[in-house]
Amino acid sequence: MEHKIVYMDNNATTAMDSEVKAIMEENADLYGNASSLHSLGRSAAEAVSWARKEVALLIGAKEDEIFFNSGATEGNNTVFNIFRDIIDDGGKRNRIIISSVEHPASIESAKYLIRKGYKVEFAKVDRTGRLDLDEFEKMISDDVILVSVMVGNNESGVIEPVKEVSRIARKYGAYIHADATQAIGKIPVDVNDLGVDYLTLSAHKFYGPKGVGAMYIRKGAPRSPFLHGGHQEGGLRAGTYNNQGIIGLGKAAELARVRTEEERKYLWTLRMMLKNGIAERIPDVVFNGTDDFDRELPGTLNVSFPRAEGESILLYLDLEGIEVSTGSACASGSLEPSYVLLASGLDVELAHGSIRFSLGRYNTREDVEYVLEKLPPIIEKIRKMSTRKE
Ligand code: PMP
Repeated sequence: MEHKIVYMDNNATTAMDSEVKAIMEENADLYGNASSLHSLGRSAAEAVSWARKEVALLIGAKEDEIFFNSGATEGNNTVFNIFRDIIDDGGKRNRIIISSVEHPASIESAKYLIRKGYKVEFAKVDRTGRLDLDEFEKMISDDVILVSVMVGNNESGVIEPVKEVSRIARKYGAYIHADATQAIGKIPVDVNDLGVDYLTLSAHKFYGPKGVGAMYIRKGAPRSPFLHGGHQEGGLRAGTYNNQGIIGLGKAAELARVRTEEERKYLWTLRMMLKNGIAERIPDVVFNGTDDFDRELPGTLNVSFPRAEGESILLYLDLEGIEVSTGSACASGSLEPSYVLLASGLDVELAHGSIRFSLGRYNTREDVEYVLEKLPPIIEKIRKMSTRKE
């Protein structure tokens, strides 16, 4: 019998949608340089501008506010670099605030700035992993130039109060960056509703190709060249266009615009089925994040299993064809407990025993049933082994 594969690691990356694959294949021979003036170049430029329109439509932006790049790691780094340059130029604003549960692409950019002597501070989150707005309001003052808060967390799935953060930050004249990498395609994301000046995303998190993404910069918000070179992207991000990748991103954006609302409900149903099934079948589990539909990404379920280590659970599940994560893919590889869960006040043992199930468009009820059949005996076995050791 063919080994069943149940992929529940969609926050790490998603499979490409068949329509995305098809349009990329159709355009495999569109090799013209989108900056060339001849017809092949112009066809490539047309495709790039179609994709730009689709990304702009998806997030409620204007086309000239969208800049293609290699993804959210580049986008987040770019935001911090822009503000480092501004701080270098002097002026009274020289503090940056970011949440303590941001993705490493922001946290490490922030730590780099701290090592270089810049003032970057981390805002606390509550027990669910949501930014503490009172604490944040106490931290901010009119010397803050940038606030960076993600829309949805990659590990816990918690939706951050970006709109409220923007409202507060604006009162103090700070610019706002939102990392929307995990939120796009899962919940509605609109730059005007959120009130942000910068927004970053990666195509591969919503059924597009890897290595391509986009960044939104509100008209009038500070910008400076992020890659020096040719005149692409208004001279801000130089380099020959990745035609195929950008077309794939455009298609993924178009599909997300049409499907997000329905998929959000579908993923939530699967998530709750998985959660309730685990709660019924396995004693002594701790669910991280929240069960509030408005405050949690629909497909993410982060669970801690006391007396069972996350890595062991992951490997046993893998033997059954079930693919999940401990912490995030970016932090795994290190055996450190998740800083995201620790920041929410989870103790080290529970953070060590946490598993992230992240559901996506292609998961089915049968997938959830399969996990509910395989998981309980695995937890029981690991717990027995760990008791024996004591
Ligand atoms: N931000 C968040 C919230 C993410 O989940 C990720 C990917 N794990 C990134 C940024 C970085 O995206 P990429 O690896 O595509 O650059």
